[in-house]
This record gives sequence, structure tokens and C-alpha cells, in this order.
Amino acid sequence: MKEITTKLLVIGGGPGGYVAAIRAGQLGVSTVLVEGARLGGTCLTIGCIPSKALIHAAQAFEHARHQAGGSSALGIHVKEPAIDIAQTVKWKDGIVQRLSGGVGGLLRKAGVQVLAGWAHIEDGKTVTVKPAEGEPVRVRCEHLLLATGSEPVELPSMPFGGAIWSSTDALSPGALPRRLVVVGAGYIGLELGIAYRKLGVEVTVVEALQRVLPTYDEELTKPVLDALRKSGVVLHLGCSVLGHDDKQGVHVRNAQADEFALPADRVLVAVGRRPRTQGFGLESLQLDMAGRHVAIDAHCRTSMRGVWAIGDVTGEPMLAHRAMAQGECVAEQIAGRNRRFEPMAIPAVCFTDPEVVVAGRTPAEARAAGIDCLEAAFPFSANGRAMTLEASAGFVRVVARKDNHLILGWQAVGQGVAELAAAFTQSIEMGARLEDIAGTIHAHPTLGEAVQEAALRALGHALHI
Ligand code: FAD
Ligand code: NAD
Repeated sequence: MKEITTKLLVIGGGPGGYVAAIRAGQLGVSTVLVEGARLGGTCLTIGCIPSKALIHAAQAFEHARHQAGGSSALGIHVKEPAIDIAQTVKWKDGIVQRLSGGVGGLLRKAGVQVLAGWAHIEDGKTVTVKPAEGEPVRVRCEHLLLATGSEPVELPSMPFGGAIWSSTDALSPGALPRRLVVVGAGYIGLELGIAYRKLGVEVTVVEALQRVLPTYDEELTKPVLDALRKSGVVLHLGCSVLGHDDKQGVHVRNAQADEFALPADRVLVAVGRRPRTQGFGLESLQLDMAGRHVAIDAHCRTSMRGVWAIGDVTGEPMLAHRAMAQGECVAEQIAGRNRRFEPMAIPAVCFTDPEVVVAGRTPAEARAAGIDCLEAAFPFSANGRAMTLEASAGFVRVVARKDNHLILGWQAVGQGVAELAAAFTQSIEMGARLEDIAGTIHAHPTLGEAVQEAALRALGHALHI
């Protein structure tokens, strides 16, 4: 068998693995990256990017339909629009292709050797790679980095296949279903459920808990709930799904133990993702686990010397930017730098309509930590830019220590608020106080003015409310 020796071997070419490999290459560390599917991983090929492309296309179509319906306050009139979903998917695939190819180019430029094939771990220093074609290769390494990501959770009563879609299927529809039932009102269920509704599909969402987006606080998700109801998405909260048959659709039981069926042409099951830890010899390392994910310390080291892990395989939050930041951190340590992965805040954005963004602590989390805090919100209904965008639902909220006004957290809900994530996270990482944000000139007219106004309001002297 052909053998390669390298200092760093990365398993997985998603945002965690490819960023680690690029940074290691830049720092002169000899690096091999193994990817069994496509460079870019879940994020670039079947996750973040394709979902945001579909969401954008759905939004554009919905705008056109809204104008055609004669309900435009703007005075715009268009004839009945139509969507060619095959062309939409082709456009989305073009973006994925460009980005995945771009990652290949960046890895080449950094001097990383990429092996296309599935890795199988023999021990902490040896991995065999089985390419789709040709001979297997044995790679010997000093450092092994696990960046194998995650996979969708399947419901035993509704395995993926046929009418039962995973998110991957929902991102490449051959045709639009007439009726879509979405199981799970989390990130994927709502991002894609809303997109499908905008594409004209009848969407019904079934959620086990009593509210949508249960990982966010209720006040923050209220505008999303209002928008879902207004758009005609039917919600069944506090319900469990029992199974599916092609005739009646999805069988559901509600909190009162009543059973009913929801007709469905397609069912999107989006009930979470689990770390990918099986099927490639990881068990043989007998690493310490934390539940289903690989346990790591503040350096992203596993319990075995020389074996590191990053990204979704290390559990929550399963977000691309966390994986990337961990990848960079590990590469720098292997190159001899002194680094730890201890961010003050990892922002999270849900690309629903309206969008939701959080960074740092919520008021409830600050109080639970025993911190005496100030909180203040500024509504987009008092923001000029939001009005010009027909987007006055939602608000920005700030949380700060009462004693010294150090900012602990930001939350926002509204159209386009995803772009506030940078300002929110920077202010927390840089140890900003309310006075720093209140005293910074924010451009007018922008949604960002609501950030300044929230800080002013926490200080007791908001100007525009
Ligand atoms: P992955 O991206 O999963 O990459 C792991 C790679 O390892 C895969 O390419 C896989 O093929 C490869 N691999 C696994 N095992 C082996 C092996 N044995 N040999 C060789 N290769 C192997 N996150 C956000 O931050 N923002 C978003 O907007 C967002 N939207 C999402 C939308 C959807 C529909 C989904 C499914 C996810 C979304 N996520 C989003 C989550 C995000 O995609 C993940 O957090 C991110 O991709 C994790 O990166 P990773 O490098 O840990 O793993
Ligand atoms: P999720 O954890 O966000 O939501 C799953 C939802 O399904 C929860 O509300 C849960 O209560 C519900 N649920 C679980 N079992 C159920 C059942 N049997 N019946 C009905 N409801 C049930 O998971 P997801 O939406 O699959 O997304 C997976 C992960 O991918 C996310 O946690 C996130 O880390 C990542 N992601 C991130 C983004 C983003 O950053 N914008 C977008 C998509 C996905």
C-alpha cells in the first residue's frame, strides 16, 4: 500500500477541517486533508450556503407575488410571476460549485495535499484512505485532527427516503410539492419551511415542544411566530409524530392524546443533527466522549495525545463559524503558537423571516448567573430605515452589567438583522460598555441605529423613542 507521512492529517473538508488545513499550510506545517464527499462539507454543499440561496430565491419570488397580488403599498404592479424551480436549483448548485472549487484552490495555494476518499482510523497516528478509484493510501501523522462534522437525525418511524426528506433533499427539489409537512420547528424546519411557503407550497409544521425555535427566548421568537401565522404556515405545537403513509400523510398525536393525520406530498424531518462518530474506526481510539460528541478541552485536544477535534463532531453549538474558529486555533497550536479556544461570544443567526440574531448572554442567562443587569430594547417601528424597508417588526435588545455597564449580550429580531452579528460580537469581545456604543456615531439611516438607541435606552436617555 502506498504510504504518506505528514505532520498534520485532517479528516473532513468542512469549514472546520479546511480552515485548519489552510492555516496549517500557511504556517509551514506539512498537511494532508482527507474528504470523502465534497470540499466545503455540510456548510458549503448541503447546509448554510445552499439553504441561504434557496431562502433568497424564495424571498425574491414572494416579493414578486406580493406585488402581483395588487397589495403593494409601493405602487408596483407586475403580472403573475412564475418560478422555474429546476433553474433555481441549478443556480444554487452553481454557487456551491464555485465555493467548493474555491476551497480546493485555497488548499492548493497553502500547499495542502488533498486526498479524495473516506478515511478509516487504524490508530491515533495512522489512517487509511480509500479513494473512490485506485489503490488505498496509508497516511502516518504526528497530529490527527477530527473534523468529521454531523449528520441529520432520522426518526425511526419515518426513515429518510421516498416522500420523507432530509434537509439535503429539501435543498434540491425535483419539483415543488403542493403540501409539505415539516417535523421540527428549529433552525432547519423554520428556515426551509418559510422558504417553501414563500415558494407557494402549503406548509404545516409539527413541533414536539410548545413553541417555535425553542433554543431562543420567547420574546425574541414572537415576531417570527406572528410572521409564520400571517404567511399561512399551519403550526401544531406540543405534538409528536407517529409515522407516515402515502395515503393519509403524517400521523400526529397532540398534547391531549388526540390523533390525527396531516396530508403531505413531502415530509421534511428536521429534528436535529448528531456528531459523526461512527463508521470510520473512531471507536478504536476509545476517546472520552461527552454524550454523543467527542469531548475536548479549551485547546480542542481530545483525551488522546496528538488527537484533536473541532466543529460539529464536538457538539453544540453546531455552527460553521465556530468550526472555522476552532480549526484556525488548532492549526496555530500545532505550528507552536500558544492558543486556546475561549471566545467571549459565538453569535448565532436564524435566517427566518424576520431573522433572529443573538450574541452573548440573554437577560435570563445573566440573571441565572447571579449578575445584576440592565436590559433595554429598541423597536424597529421607531427606526426610519426599517420603515423604508417595510420591515418595522422586531427590536434590538442589549444586556449589560448594572455596576459598570459592561455589555454582556445582544439579541435582535427583524429583517436583515443577521448583519448586526459582527457589531454585537465585536462589542462583547472588545469589552465595550454601554457608553462606548451610545457614544459611537452610527450611520443614518441604518438598522444599526437601533443598536445605538438600545444602548442609549439602557442608560436612560434614548433619543428617538
Ligand atoms: P461538516 O461541514 O459536516 O464537514 C465534515 C466533512 O467531513 C464532510 O464533508 C464529510 O464528508 C467529511 N467526512 C466525514 N467523515 C469522513 C471520513 N471518514 N473520511 C473523509 N471525510 C469524512 N451553520 C451556520 O453557522 N450557519 C448557517 O446558516 C447554517 N445553516 C445550515 C443549514 C443546513 C441545512 C444545515 C444542515 C446545516 C447548517 N449549518 C449552519 C450548520 C453547519 O453546516 C455546520 O455547523 C458546519 O458545516 C460544521 O462544520 P464541520 O467542519 O464541523 O463539519
Ligand atoms: P434544531 O435542534 O435546531 O431543531 C430541532 C427541532 O425539532 C427542535 O425544536 C425540537 O424540539 C424538534 N423536535 C425534535 N424531535 C422532534 C419530534 N420527534 N417531533 C417533532 N419535533 C421534534 O435542529 P435542526 O433544525 O435539525 O438543525 C440542526 C442543527 O444545524 C442546528 O441545531 C444548528 O446547529 C445547525 N443549523 C444552523 C443554522 C443557522 O445557523 N442558521 C441553520 C440550519 C441548521
